[in-house]
Amino acid sequence: MIVYNLTCDQSHSFEGWFASAANFDKQLTNRQISCPNCGSTDVTKQLSAPYVNTGSTHTSPIATKQTETALAGLNPQHLQSKFIEYIIQNTEDVGAKFPEEARKIYYGETDNRSIRGEASGEAIKELQEEGIDVYGLPVDPLTPDKLN
Ligand SMILES: [Zn+2]
Repeated sequence: MIVYNLTCDQSHSFEGWFASAANFDKQLTNRQISCPNCGSTDVTKQLSAPYVNTGSTHTSPIATKQTETALAGLNPQHLQSKFIEYIIQNTEDVGAKFPEEARKIYYGETDNRSIRGEASGEAIKELQEEGIDVYGLPVDPLTPDKLN
């Protein structure tokens, strides 16, 4: 599963959740993706990647304002729980050291890897201002037992 940051021709930013990159391309080609703000199907993908700091992947800093999630043809709750599951399985929990670790990864001071952890909105904003790709999750992925 992939989350892309999308922008319409009116410069509205929103997120789209897709089963795969190919699925995104198909929906884009078929103009099945539309802006939740203005309905425009003239949508472009920003350089982006999933919600976590993936190090080597281009990720797009998240705007401080919350955007609506755009979704087509999929069950959001199912998608979200799968996505959280994926994050938990594919990231290292660094807890409260998240901002510190994210910086180290960004500046090449530690292994390039995907991490998750705790950070305040302010800390996330600071990281983003430094050009570090981090994302605030809409839910807490740190406690898998909540997922059921
Ligand atoms: Zn729009």
